[in-house]
Amino acid sequence: MPNVADFTAGAVTAVRRCADLINAAREPGDDALRAVLDEHGEDGGALSTDDVAALRTAAGELRAIAEAATLEDAVARINEHLGAGERPRLSAHDGSPWHLHTDAPGASWGPWLRASSAMALAITVAETQRRPLDVCAASGCDRVFVAAGRGRPRRYCSETCATRDRAAKFRARHRGE
Ligand SMILES: [Zn+2]
Repeated sequence: MPNVADFTAGAVTAVRRCADLINAAREPGDDALRAVLDEHGEDGGALSTDDVAALRTAAGELRAIAEAATLEDAVARINEHLGAGERPRLSAHDGSPWHLHTDAPGASWGPWLRASSAMALAITVAETQRRPLDVCAASGCDRVFVAAGRGRPRRYCSETCATRDRAAKFRARHRGE
């Protein structure tokens, strides 16, 4: 069963974990998925093959939120996930402070990822009025990144992709394309 100790850091941590898991779910093999869970304080080694499959399915559904064309479209998709969760409740367990849950006690990994991500994404939209996740604009990259934040909206998953894409566009202009 997942633990939720890292919820103490708030919605941002859960949104970042959601993005990392969406990306890891696209990697071949299970190692990336397990490693990301470990990085976020979960026990990735405890996952069964079924758990991994359930996480992959949930991650694929959550990817649609990042791929949404508009904020309104992203919100509609988040609401669908919120509606599929349990009644929200406050919980303090395993030494954690009070935090919100919309997953059932003892939920398996798929429903846990869906419910905890939907809650965190909803809080983030309410706080920032921006789409919480986006897909990298660089050609050949489909990584999801956390888009909500201060300053100008980002378009790339990383500085590497931003630099590579700018260089490619510069070369294309230079060739008169
Ligand atoms: Zn990228």
